[in-house]
Amino acid sequence: MTHPATTDIVEHWVDGKPWRGESARTAPVFDPALGVAQRSVRMATGDDVGVAVAAAAAALPAWADSSVATRHRFLLNFRELLNARKDELASILTAEHGKVLADAAGEIARGLEVVEFALSMPHLLKGEFSQNASTGIDVYSVREPVGVVGIISPFNFPAMVPLWFFPIAIAAGNTVVLKPSEKDPSAANWLAELAADAGLPAGVLNVVHGDKEAVDALLTHPQIAAISFVGSTPIADYVYRTASAHGKRVQALGGAKNHMLVLPDADLDLAADAAVNAGFGSAGERCMAVSVVLAVDSIADDLVARIAARMAGLRTGDGRRGCDMGPLITREHRDRVAEYLDTAVTDRARVVVDGRDSAVDGDPNGFWLGPSLIDRVPVTSAVYRDEIFGPVLSVVRVEGFEHGVDLVNSSPYGNGVAIFTNDGGAARRFQRQVTVGMIGVNVPIPVPVAYHSFGGWKASLFGDAKAYGPNGFAFFTREKAITSRWLDPSHGGIDLGFPRNS
Ligand code: NAD
Repeated sequence: MTHPATTDIVEHWVDGKPWRGESARTAPVFDPALGVAQRSVRMATGDDVGVAVAAAAAALPAWADSSVATRHRFLLNFRELLNARKDELASILTAEHGKVLADAAGEIARGLEVVEFALSMPHLLKGEFSQNASTGIDVYSVREPVGVVGIISPFNFPAMVPLWFFPIAIAAGNTVVLKPSEKDPSAANWLAELAADAGLPAGVLNVVHGDKEAVDALLTHPQIAAISFVGSTPIADYVYRTASAHGKRVQALGGAKNHMLVLPDADLDLAADAAVNAGFGSAGERCMAVSVVLAVDSIADDLVARIAARMAGLRTGDGRRGCDMGPLITREHRDRVAEYLDTAVTDRARVVVDGRDSAVDGDPNGFWLGPSLIDRVPVTSAVYRDEIFGPVLSVVRVEGFEHGVDLVNSSPYGNGVAIFTNDGGAARRFQRQVTVGMIGVNVPIPVPVAYHSFGGWKASLFGDAKAYGPNGFAFFTREKAITSRWLDPSHGGIDLGFPRNS
């Protein structure tokens, strides 16, 4: 297998091989820790996407008709290869995304869990059978693939998010065109090549690179049956509306602004550890990052001091050097995140730790911003309202439980939320009252295990189906119900009435 990261241009992967397409347009792919473009990526035209969709459509009949045993065996091989070679993938993630190697390994581990869950496919694809539902009549239902599936993924999990979807889509007999983020495209090619090494027939998993032009071509292509999208809320909304209007099944996961409510009876050391881990892991570029700590007034000073003390020990720098936190994805994004520190001052919040002053163990040209802590953030401030998607942790002081729940529920987002308390009754009430899709009780990043489904509420998910877990198999299959009677001399005769069961 050639290492895609060694080529100058990351090309598409279509019909089981690298493919250049017609487009002359490319975009730079940076190593964010070095601040320089290491390679570029081909940007597909709509026609290029059409070629990839045609390859997936051509592969569909044979793959949809392949036995459960064949698809299961592929997944087993894929899981073994991915597990054996995960370090290669981790180094690609660090080189293009910037996340530290340990975090890249964590991302792959969560992706592997979905592959392992997809291995339950013989069981999950079983239909149901009702014998003698009416006299002499059996009724059964079966699950069939939906067809060619388009997957569009964000920059922040270049391996895990594709792995949320394509193993399940393929297990269910669909074929796939994956459009990863143009900012860190190599992981998708690496996964597609690995799938080929694991025995996946050509055309079942294709990768096209590009931006809005490629996405629009997928959303409107008549041969695409379903779209799985993950990205920011405005684009998720657009993807949902456009693809639905073109008759497709759509799940579009959007942005987030996750709160963590800390009650006075919480273990404050546990809460401070959790806030730091979930606020600054992956430089805050996680849709499940904690970005707001809601601290009840009576313990807020103490909690802020504990968080700040922990932050003093964090090392920001090149993800290959054993640091805790890497760079941001682009210079523009780094600058946009840093501006929120000025906004905080204008809005009379208190900047407790300013990440612009952090020492960095990395190349001076990298897209660095150290971890920042802002206390007494007013809820009218953009620091509170916006999804910052960087290493900026806000503290909002609340009067108590009800005030905290009100703030959580008045957010337009509903991805993740956490409560820290030792009061089981309060935790139970919280879980029942919040309008959020994923809830942690003394757990800061409540990403469900692969056999439960992942997804938020409100502006964090457009469509009915969450990602992976049982929702994943439901999304990538459609059901047929069959009512069957085999000829029996005791039946027959003319009856124009609506069929009744007897
Ligand atoms: P993004 O919305 O900019 O991009 C996501 C995908 O959409 C990419 O493949 C990109 O090429 C494409 N895209 C970008 N602009 C487009 C346009 N105008 N029209 C059509 N397609 C377009 O998101 P991002 O910056 O790559 O990722 C970060 C965002 O993703 C954050 O908002 C984060 O919360 C969200 N996210 C959500 C989840 C979740 O599960 N809810 C998971 C990961 C990331």
